[in-house]
Amino acid sequence: MRVQIIPFFAAICCLAFFFSCTNDPSGNPSGHTMKAPAKATAKPDYAIVIHGGAGTILKENMSPEKEAAYLKVLNEALDIGEGILKKGGTSLEAVEKTIMHMEDSPLFNSGKGAVFTNAGTNELDASIMEGATQNAGAVGGVKTVKNPIRAAIAVMQNSEHVMLTGDGADQFAKEQGLDIVDNSYFRTERRWESLQRIKKKEAEADKHLLENSESKHGTVGCVALDKNGNLCAGTSTGGMTNKRWGRVGDSPIIGAGTYADNATCGVSCTGHGEYFIRYAVAHDVSARMAYLNEPIETAADHVINKTLVEKGGSGGLIALDTNGNVAMPFNSKGMYRGYAKPGERVVLIFSRQSN
Ligand code: ASP
Repeated sequence: MRVQIIPFFAAICCLAFFFSCTNDPSGNPSGHTMKAPAKATAKPDYAIVIHGGAGTILKENMSPEKEAAYLKVLNEALDIGEGILKKGGTSLEAVEKTIMHMEDSPLFNSGKGAVFTNAGTNELDASIMEGATQNAGAVGGVKTVKNPIRAAIAVMQNSEHVMLTGDGADQFAKEQGLDIVDNSYFRTERRWESLQRIKKKEAEADKHLLENSESKHGTVGCVALDKNGNLCAGTSTGGMTNKRWGRVGDSPIIGAGTYADNATCGVSCTGHGEYFIRYAVAHDVSARMAYLNEPIETAADHVINKTLVEKGGSGGLIALDTNGNVAMPFNSKGMYRGYAKPGERVVLIFSRQSN
């Protein structure tokens, strides 16, 4: 009997090893399958994954100082979230504090450093969703909330609504006692210059131009899994440079830019928002897992590298399932991204080939 069980057990182990090697969370846009660390298959106590936006992010265009600055903030953000999760904190708290750190950094297109609208203002969007309850909150087009992710959480926790927009959302945030700032707080010269560049091109082309869909995006997002097995996902952005008419992208839209369900996964997206809204990208990853039984990497890769590519939508996403499996696909040149699990840390900017 024992003689038959041992070869059977060995065969199962070989199969498990084979499937573990097909797990490619790196976000390789070419769709190649690469080997992930073997320990990625063991269910971790906790896990956290972040992004800082996708777009034309090329090593040859980035100075070593700038690269180091991005890596520093990404690592600090992971340290904050991981510290909370390690101590048994909730995934909600981890996502909130991790995103706040990136919102406070002028490097990313969220909070301080957000892109400008055509009118020369900053209008911010954010959303949050919990996988256990599927409670969600979002704000769109806020102008005075220092950390829009906190406003999204306040909508989820302290109102009967899911989404508030514009002046009303600013007013709600103020009533909630959140930090309120003048709109000029969000200004950075770099983003102001981007607006001037695109306005010049617009005048030359004599038509409306939103930020080029292949340019740098810079939205931030985080998905965390806590020790109780609960997922939470959040996203925060300034949207796209030169947006007008109160344009709102996917980031504050539950099911488009953010989604979480403990039965499947948590997702946060970045990219050309109109496409992410049309194809309900965040929810589609979850739906593929639920209805087609696809593993997270397959589901995420399909949506980013097939559905969106076929339609011309650029960008990427981060996703995390309740077993701690991570996917970080993107179809642009790069995406600021990283994840942490006990004893494991990955932070990447460019496509895997050039890292
Ligand atoms: N998805 C965001 C939007 O369309 C932009 C981004 O991710 O950078 O507003």
